[in-house]
Amino acid sequence: SVDVAWAEAWIRNSARVLSENRAELNTLDREIGDGDHGENMDRGFQAMLSKLDAATDAGTPAELLKTLAATLISTVGGAAGPLYGTAYLKAAAAVAGAAALDGPAVVALLTAGRDGIVLRGKAESGDKTMVDAWTPAVDAATAAEAAGESPERILAAAADAADAGAAATVPLIARKGRASYLGERSIGHLDPGARSTALILRCASDAAA
Ligand code: ADP
Ligand code: MG
Ligand code: MG
Repeated sequence: SVDVAWAEAWIRNSARVLSENRAELNTLDREIGDGDHGENMDRGFQAMLSKLDAATDAGTPAELLKTLAATLISTVGGAAGPLYGTAYLKAAAAVAGAAALDGPAVVALLTAGRDGIVLRGKAESGDKTMVDAWTPAVDAATAAEAAGESPERILAAAADAADAGAAATVPLIARKGRASYLGERSIGHLDPGARSTALILRCASDAAA
């Protein structure tokens, strides 16, 4: 079930996968940014791993996500720290107090996360940012929930849609963040933040499987 063990596994999987993909994310960011996205994400999630290892009581999914938010905001430099920090903070608030998340709660968590990023960064769909992975994920999760799918299947649908959304950033012109300085020269490259979002949402699904 989608409970605190799931939330902890989501975070631990994310830390491992972001570390494994650190060089790839740096390379993507080197092409249209300043080359530090892998490093930024890895630093933040490793700091969270230390906190998880030291914790005695896991609490609720919301409590873990709130700690993750604070950790990312304080340890990740650059755009991604406050953006993901706000996402996890809003996601935590959306499921506050719940020990286990049903389908509607999973959709609420994902929707609040995406809304947090939009609130913070003001990117619209098609601006070639992490929003282009989050929004298809939210839409797919909403549709899966409406079709009566389980929380696990909802997370799987979100992960698949995030993958497709990230891949679809390649032909776009960046309109937000550092990559926007490149204008049309940003065409032909995968957005690093959309890629990290796809990795993170896949980890959420794997943690529930
Ligand atoms: P920085 O650009 O400060 O070095 P990172 O490299 O860690 O930060 O993160 C870059 C990623 O952040 C981009 O690939 C993009 O997905 C995301 N991003 C940047 N600005 C915004 C924004 N305003 N809204 C949403 N996402 C954004
Ligand atoms: Mg960068
Ligand atoms: Mg930077």
